[in-house]
Amino acid sequence: MATEIEKAIVTNIQGYSIHDGPGIRTVVFLKGCPLRCVWCANPENLDARVQIGFNRRLCKGCGRCAAACRYGAIVPGDAYRVDQVNCTACGECVARCFYDALVRYGAERTSEEVFEEVRKDKLFYDASGGGVTVSGGEPMARPEFVFELFSRCREDGISTCAETCGYAPRAALERVLPVTDLFLFDLKVMDPELHKKHTGCDNAPILDNARFLAEKGASILFRQPLVPGYTDSEENIRRMAEFILSLGGGYAIELMPFHRAGAPKYAALNLPYEAEHLTPLTEAQIARARDTYLDCGVRCIVSK
Ligand code: SF4
Ligand code: SF4
Repeated sequence: MATEIEKAIVTNIQGYSIHDGPGIRTVVFLKGCPLRCVWCANPENLDARVQIGFNRRLCKGCGRCAAACRYGAIVPGDAYRVDQVNCTACGECVARCFYDALVRYGAERTSEEVFEEVRKDKLFYDASGGGVTVSGGEPMARPEFVFELFSRCREDGISTCAETCGYAPRAALERVLPVTDLFLFDLKVMDPELHKKHTGCDNAPILDNARFLAEKGASILFRQPLVPGYTDSEENIRRMAEFILSLGGGYAIELMPFHRAGAPKYAALNLPYEAEHLTPLTEAQIARARDTYLDCGVRCIVSK
């Protein structure tokens, strides 16, 4: 009996990335994340389902989308919006809009289809020490898909990198570990109560999974979203450094300064954006965070 090829909902396959692992990489974004971080820059990847977003700025109010929808999911008002509960993501409305005001977030792809696409840039990977990164969303929610994709990459000599929030079943990490060259492992907040408040989830399983990967000798680059008022306190940074040092292995951390690039996507999906009021950190504030890590003895780099 032929085994079925794994599928996942993919929102984007982004080539020529230099921010998500070494060298030039192609980043595959998967949909669905167990965390709800206040500052998330990719809200289109939170829900595991395909979704339709609505760009108010481009809409001319012609009503063609509402007329095409059989589910009553285009709601008129002072501006049209998509009712995410009743929408089946059939895509009829997207096809009817002349003005590109509707966008479909996500499409089901097999691991083989994704592999065929990412391998096209192998020359760039070879020349730069790059490869393929899975991101999201949370790729460990689709471990079989990642395993198949990475196994194919490995057979083809393409390096593999998985970005994870760490909130994943242990079995998922065990599955992908043998085919993953590098984990980009997010750490956000050390205080358990604050972590739950800002992300909606406990941090205990995340820290346990970090310990597990370290014990297994995995290559890990920790990453911290540096968010003013949420993750950037000196106390949080010192506790984070202490945790990283406790793992041994000389792991480094990369700071990911907060930005507001995700704001239009919150509006498109009619989602509240709790980080609306935040302003990006200054160079001096970022340098202070970096220096605190260095002072604690943890190698620290700042993402560009
Ligand atoms: S079809 Fe496009 S332009 Fe017309 S109302 Fe719908 S979203 Fe707006
Ligand atoms: S994707 Fe389909 S169900 Fe959803 S709003 Fe558009 S036409 Fe309606």
